[in-house]
This record gives sequence, structure tokens and C-alpha cells, in this order.
Amino acid sequence: MAAYDYDLFVIGGGSGGVRAARIAAGHGAKVALAEEYRMGGTCVIRGCVPKKLLVYASRFRDEFEDAGGFGWSVGESTFDWPTLIANKDREIARLEGIYRNVLKRPGVEIFDTRAVLKGPHEVHLAKPDRTVTARTILIATGGWPVVDRKVSGYEHFITSNEAFHLQKMPERIAIVGGGYIAVEFAGIFAGLGAETTLVYRGEKILRGFDEELRDDLTKESRQRGIRVVTGKVFAKIEKTKSGLVGTYNDGETIVADQIMVATGRAPNTAGIGLELAGVVLGERGEIKVDATSQSNVPGIYAIGDVTDRVNLTPVAIREGHAFSDSLFGKRSWTVDHDLVPTGVFSTPEIGTVGLPEHEAAKTYGKLDIYKSRFTPLKGTLSGRKEKTLLKLVVDVASQKVVGCHVLGPDAAEIVQMAAIAMRMGATKADFDATIALHPTMAEELVTMREKWMPLAAAAE
Ligand code: NDP
Repeated sequence: MAAYDYDLFVIGGGSGGVRAARIAAGHGAKVALAEEYRMGGTCVIRGCVPKKLLVYASRFRDEFEDAGGFGWSVGESTFDWPTLIANKDREIARLEGIYRNVLKRPGVEIFDTRAVLKGPHEVHLAKPDRTVTARTILIATGGWPVVDRKVSGYEHFITSNEAFHLQKMPERIAIVGGGYIAVEFAGIFAGLGAETTLVYRGEKILRGFDEELRDDLTKESRQRGIRVVTGKVFAKIEKTKSGLVGTYNDGETIVADQIMVATGRAPNTAGIGLELAGVVLGERGEIKVDATSQSNVPGIYAIGDVTDRVNLTPVAIREGHAFSDSLFGKRSWTVDHDLVPTGVFSTPEIGTVGLPEHEAAKTYGKLDIYKSRFTPLKGTLSGRKEKTLLKLVVDVASQKVVGCHVLGPDAAEIVQMAAIAMRMGATKADFDATIALHPTMAEELVTMREKWMPLAAAAE
């Protein structure tokens, strides 16, 4: 008789957990996975995928507006929120089914229930009410939106979770935060026609990104009609006949149909028995793990947002894959968290990989900065004046490209490709030696010759 019921028990059916379970089962391990909600996790059910569908919806406005310059007459256009949400829900249900099949095919046993640790090798399942054992347990429970409960009337806030299921499109929305989610949803709602206010507590949105991306996106967002309010937080929210009245910390007020908070996400570690198993958590409640994703308890591992390393879906997937290959396959490897490309699906969108200029200056000292800011070809006929920015940050000593930052149409697609070159250690000369693909925006990355003064020097 086997010492344990399973070789691996995965808690959490998000992208990371599903990848780990599938790969381990493919290597011949006996695997079970528990998910209390819907298979697919944040990314598929209430994150990246539905968000991108809403982003697409929001960008049709530009297409209709731009068409005239190209000879098209577009009739009166109207937008129907319930149709978008219903179609989005249908696609998400389809993807959820695919996730299930991906697990079933290699023989992963699925428990549609909450699972709580009882010890280093024991998991209690709520339905059916029983405890199972596993040699290895993987926690992949992700994160959850943080809502500041100190704000009076915080119960009127919605988060991105609810934004995906609103019965009605808000005509006026305030969005709190200056990170990925706030910026992306501001673009979505503004594009769909809502009067949109972005409320950020600091001076400039998207802290941590390259300064010029932050500046340019703020400018373009304002030009698109988004009110970007900085240096403020909400002190109070009240429900009135005319809508939600939000009072800022300085006493000013705003009226909106919805107030959405996107003020970060916290690791989902509460109430899952981690203390019973002796798992050590960090300051933000994240599971502390080593490079192999092992916690302080030898049989318990964790991957993805619950570990608060680089909180992005493809990173969680890689971590899950590396974990399962290493423990159940023939190849032991770890994830390199350097040079992870990332996109912000604002409009215009951001793609970025490597270090922003100010960080690169700290790491490398002397930098060569190349950039190009221009109106894309399409704008010549459409009349849209929006500027695209492409920027390369180069370490003077090695001539390696250490940062690539793009703001503009398809920025994320462009940067995914640049990331390959940068991982291979491409120098500016390698970029220059590549022949341009004309006419594109991305060709600027291989044709930029003029050096710009680094921002720090320019500010002196
Ligand atoms: P972020 O960490 O990106 O941003 C949180 C924002 O909220 C920051 O601007 C922060 O300000 C602000 N904030 C934090 N606490 C408060 C508070 N109490 N009051 C007012 N403002 C506050 O979190 P998000 O929620 O936007 O996204 C969560 C994570 O999800 C991201 O880190 C990312 O990893 C992932 N994600 C990735 C996406 C992508 O890849 N395209 C899309 C969406 C999410 P400050 O800057 O001052 O700290």
C-alpha cells in the first residue's frame, strides 16, 4: 500500500496550479487538484483574459473615429454592455472547460471544493468531507484584491472582480489606484464612453515603470478624456440618490455610479491551514519559498502570486512547470525572474522589458539612451495625434540593451520579441545590424542612432 494517497496535491486551479498538476501527472505522478471556485483562476476567470476582451471592446471607438480619414463613413455606433459581458462570459466558460480537460487527460483527479491543510502531508476537503494525504503539497492559491476598510463606506467600493459582472455600464466611474489594474480599467471604461476619473495617491501613475512611459501615458490618458487626479485618496463614500459621493482627503467630492478600487492584491494565504503545517509567511502574508519554490516545510511548495515574487501569469506557469519537472521529471531547473517582459493594456498600451532608465542608472552607472517619439503612419490620415514612444536603455560599458520601453499600438507585441534578443544578451550594435521591417513602428528599435541625454543628467 502506498504511504500517501497522492504523490502531489495541488491547492488552486489557476494557471500555475493547473500547469504544475498537468506536468506532474504527465511524468507519471498520482496527482489531485482542488479548486473551490472556477477552474482557471484569476487570469482566466477574472483577470488577463476577460480584461483583454474588454480592452478590445473599448478600442473600437478609435477605429470608428479614425475610419473617416480613410474614406469610410461609419453610421451611428452604439454600445451594448450586456452583449459584451454575455459574450465574454461564454468565452470564459469555454476556456474553463479547456482547463478541466487539460487536467483530466493526463489523469489528474479534480476536487471542486475548498481544501485546507491539516499538516505537512494532509489536506482536508470540504466536499466530500474527508482528509487525504500527499507526499508533496503545492499551494497555488494566488491573490485577492485589497480593499482599504479604513475608508468610511468602503462597502460601496467594487474591485475588478465585480467590474466584470456589472449589470449596467457605469456612466460615471472613479477608479482608485495607479497600478496595472487601475490604469487598464480607466482605459476600458473611458473607451466604452464612461466619464472616467483615475484617483492616484502619489504624484505619477505606474510607479516603478520608466519615467517617460509614465509621463507620456498620463498625458495621452488626459487627452483621451480621463481625469487623472493625483495626490488624493478617498476618505468617505456615501450612497445618495444621485449616485455614490466620494469625499477625498482634502474635502473635495466626486459623484460617480461606481467607485472601483485597484489598490494591489494580497496573497491568498488566510484560512488554508498554513499555520497547522508550520509554513512561514512573509510580511505581506506571502509564502516564503526558495528558488525551487519550496517553503520552509520540506514537503510543501508554493508558486505564483501566493509567493509574491513576480506576480504575472506566465511567471506562475513557469514556476509550476519547473516545480513539476524538477520533482517528478528527469530535469531539474529553476525559473529566472530576470528580464520578464510585461504589458499594461492601457490605451495607448505599454510594453516593457528590462530596467527603466532610473533603475539602470543605479545598476550600470553610465547609460546610452536612444528614443523615438512620433505619430504613427496611421495617424497621418486619421488625424489622431497620439504619440508613440520607443526607448532603448543601453549599458555603456557592455553596450548591452538593458531596457526596452514602448508606449503605443501593439507595444506589448513588440516588446515580447525584443525580450528574446535581450535575453540573448543583444547589444545596441546587434539591434543596429538588424534590417528594419518597413513600414512598422517596431523598426524604430533598429534604426535609432541619436543618443539622448540621460534623464538624471538632463535634470541637473
Ligand atoms: P499594483 O500593485 O500594480 O498597483 C496598486 C496601486 O494602488 C498603486 O498605484 C498603489 O500606489 C495604489 N495603492 C496601494 N494602496 C493604496 C491605498 N491604500 N490607497 C490608495 N492607493 C493605494 O496593483 P494592481 O491592483 O493594479 O494589480 C495587482 C497585480 O496584478 C499587479 O502587481 C500585477 O502583478 C498584476 N496584474 C498584471 C497585469 C498585466 O500584466 N497586464 C494586469 C493586471 C494585474 P503606490 O504606487 O503609491 O504604491
